[in-house]
Amino acid sequence: MYELLPLPYDYDALEPSIDKHTMKVHYTKHYQWYTDKLNAAVAELGLSDQPIEQLLMDMDLVPASHRAAVRNNGGGYYNHTMFWEIMSHKGKKKSDAFHDLLETSFGSVKDFKAQFAAAAASRFGSGWAWLVLTEEWSLAITSTPNQDNPLMADSDVVGYPLLGLDVWEHAYYLHYQNRRPDYIDAWRDVVNRKEVERRYGEGKEMMQKD
Ligand code: MN
Repeated sequence: MYELLPLPYDYDALEPSIDKHTMKVHYTKHYQWYTDKLNAAVAELGLSDQPIEQLLMDMDLVPASHRAAVRNNGGGYYNHTMFWEIMSHKGKKKSDAFHDLLETSFGSVKDFKAQFAAAAASRFGSGWAWLVLTEEWSLAITSTPNQDNPLMADSDVVGYPLLGLDVWEHAYYLHYQNRRPDYIDAWRDVVNRKEVERRYGEGKEMMQKD
């Protein structure tokens, strides 16, 4: 059984960047739906005891009859679990290490922000923007459609997701309507840099070459 991550803050904790109503519907309806559908699919297949990362990396091992269900709902489960964790109250979780990492990789934090925002704004329809630790241990920005993510072997950029931004309309439409760029700007204020730094270490361990 894949379990819901308890939301690490109240529904209104990320206001004004993310309003209480959006957060509540997103967590209690959408996240619950993906998790329930994932559990139903893996129960039918008897796959339920492997880590979610492994399931997504080895998508081609999932029988074709259930592959779409596992991909869409497993991606939805993983992506949202990460999403709740990489956000926190404004200005509360700074990381010098993450800051330095961005400067080294993108020239400046400003350049990183611009490239990430462009990836998020230009993803057509529903999907996610990502900061990825690649298999060569460099940082890259990409986006994926639907509930895909960089763990999936057929992603444009394959690697470990350090930071992901949900740009499905359900993530912002109630408050921002069609103003996706405003949502992207406001979201920056609630990124938990400490958690991204932790994921960087975790990603390096996961992708340790033997
Ligand atoms: Mn979502």
